Amino acid sequence: MSVATSQAFPPVMPTYARLDLAIERGEGVYLHGTDGRRYLDFMSGIAVTALGHAHPRLVAALVEQAQKLWHVSNIFRIPEGERLARRLVENSFADTVFFTNSGAEAMECGIKTVRKYHAHHGHPERYRLVTFEGAFHGRTLATIAAGGNRKYIDGFGPAVDGFDQVPFGDHEALKAAIGPQTAGILIEPVQGEGGIRPVPPQCLRGLRELCDKHGILLFFDEIQCGMGRTGRLFAHEWAGVAPDVMSLAKAIGGGFPLGACLATAKAAAGMTAGSHGSTYGGNPMAMACGNAVMDVMLEEGFLDRVQQVSSHLVQQLQGIVERHPEVFEEVRGQGLMLGLKCRMPQGEVAAALRARQLLTVNAGDNVVRLLPPLIAGPEHVAEACAIIDAAADELAAKARAGAKAG
Ligand SMILES: *Cc1c(COP(=O)(O)O)cnc(C)c1O
Repeated sequence: MSVATSQAFPPVMPTYARLDLAIERGEGVYLHGTDGRRYLDFMSGIAVTALGHAHPRLVAALVEQAQKLWHVSNIFRIPEGERLARRLVENSFADTVFFTNSGAEAMECGIKTVRKYHAHHGHPERYRLVTFEGAFHGRTLATIAAGGNRKYIDGFGPAVDGFDQVPFGDHEALKAAIGPQTAGILIEPVQGEGGIRPVPPQCLRGLRELCDKHGILLFFDEIQCGMGRTGRLFAHEWAGVAPDVMSLAKAIGGGFPLGACLATAKAAAGMTAGSHGSTYGGNPMAMACGNAVMDVMLEEGFLDRVQQVSSHLVQQLQGIVERHPEVFEEVRGQGLMLGLKCRMPQGEVAAALRARQLLTVNAGDNVVRLLPPLIAGPEHVAEACAIIDAAADELAAKARAGAKAG
């Protein structure tokens, strides 16, 4: 390799098509760029900073813990972790929790838990998971295979075996995919990267029945849609069904890297001492942040407020969609996990919003995702909607001018 090539290659591996913008500081619902501009943050680091930036309770918890203890091995008891696990258990279907540093690791733990359940019961041949098109479960070798997106799989050698993908919403294909080797069904109750596609409640209930009928496990990936994002602590609560295994990450640490795999005692039967591990998983710093996030989210009225702000935002967005049919097709999603399906390329829409200092995230299916911090209020909804409306005016005018010229 020539010297010139190695010098031209950036020190940060160029796996992201990055914007030429750096963020210096965050404050609540706003981010301050090194360009001197203040942005309204409706991406939350992709559904991570659910309590906004520099939340005083998170800062205090982190600083206090940093002065006491950063890290110990998981061979010791970690009281802050026991407390966070107990609180997750008390507020969910689960009996037990494994802490990780990321979503993909929470997924890996969940996949292993589901497979181990059957091996533990004498059926190691039952290791396959049924998954859905448009899914996203992370970027490790197993989770790219689970997600099924060729863009992420190709070029990295043989895909990890054990995932059978069916089209989203195809009930017949789903039933046909369940065989003697099936261990479980894996689904995001609301697809995030796939384009904010909620699974109808009756379908989630149908999946539960199907799993019970076949003696297989139901595994929900709530890494993006969980932790208050839909206005309930967990998205599946809206459907009134419970999974056997669930992955969490993103908002659970409020910005500190943290993930969790939750399971019932029955599902976790095979996860005994030595079966799984992580050096950092559940370390005291992460646990302090996780507990601080829980302190705020479990406060009376927090989730009700998310629902109120959501219905206000949805109503406004519906008006914008109606006024700008050249730009937008529909608004969809739940809580503060919303998507605007675009008629023009989503990238152009996102760029127009960014130019007006509103940050959003692209998703599949030509959708612009709106993921405001869960602390956003009516004033932020009003500000965002004024920006979206003005940007849509401008985009529609441009499109009309372009059509005339063409
Ligand atoms: C972000 C995400 C993941 C992966 O989480 P990482 O922390 O990036 O590993 C998995 N599943 C869903 C639904 C996600 O949104």
